[in-house]
Amino acid sequence: MSSASRPATYLFYRSEYVSTVLEAGARHTFDIGKPKRIHDALIAAGVARAGDFIAPSRLSDEQLRLVHTPDYIVKLHQPETLARLLFLDPEHPWDRHLLDPFLYAGGGTLAAAQMAFRKRTICANIGGGYHHAQADKAEGFCAIADVGIAIRSLQRERKVERVLIVDLDYHHGNGNAEIFAADEDVFTFSMHAGNWCWITKRNNLDVELPSHTGDVPYLAALEQHLPAIVRDFAPDFAFYIAGSDPFVEDTLGDFDLSEVGMLRRDQLVTDLLCAQRIPMVVVTAGGYGPSSWRIHFNYFRWLRSPETA
Ligand SMILES: [Zn+2]
Repeated sequence: MSSASRPATYLFYRSEYVSTVLEAGARHTFDIGKPKRIHDALIAAGVARAGDFIAPSRLSDEQLRLVHTPDYIVKLHQPETLARLLFLDPEHPWDRHLLDPFLYAGGGTLAAAQMAFRKRTICANIGGGYHHAQADKAEGFCAIADVGIAIRSLQRERKVERVLIVDLDYHHGNGNAEIFAADEDVFTFSMHAGNWCWITKRNNLDVELPSHTGDVPYLAALEQHLPAIVRDFAPDFAFYIAGSDPFVEDTLGDFDLSEVGMLRRDQLVTDLLCAQRIPMVVVTAGGYGPSSWRIHFNYFRWLRSPETA
């Protein structure tokens, strides 16, 4: 790999990313403990020490308002409403802690963006990437639009001019596409299955791929589109939504990418952006089933250990 020009990677995580209340009454195949599993595995492998992880603050209501409507923010603070929005069992006695993991992980995306800007480097949040959330609603287990909030924050401080979102989660990044539907300074690129959101703007590309795409056609599609976007749009900042659900062992996705293919995907995106010295934030996004954490672990290990890649 051409890793010589790759800068240091900072990792963002705190134990509050993992919900203490979601295990009961949940109707989903989410690995609730995934952020902790990735964190623990990175330490066990000697990739990072416990003190290396930067613990972000939770997002405030003021920060939520950068993207979300006042009505929706009120709803977010009502556990019953949030449970319903997230397809959780409404009979379960949810409490205010239901929202906390989203606020902390969203704070991680924002803190990672600020650090990536300051250090001109790669910052990886071991959580976040809630790419279905929209200004006024939750969708697909995404309660807050963390990437949208981070971009609006950077824009408000005039730290970025042209931001690229590379969304390689198996599902379409419809939330971010809608949030930035009228903003040509943000390019939303998504490769996914079963598209349902068509945004007509210049700086948007939706690529729909078939079931069982496999490594070679998938990586060919990525190489066909991403270099041209980076060249023509010339972003000065990027977010990489690195969902692990294209992996063959995923319980929801069916792109059938191998473990090697998944790492190659992540390396392609990283090398391309680093070659242009574009600061980037990585978020983990979707990934379902017991082996999903391993895909993120492989990527972060490579990011942190360029000499052994
Ligand atoms: Zn997904």
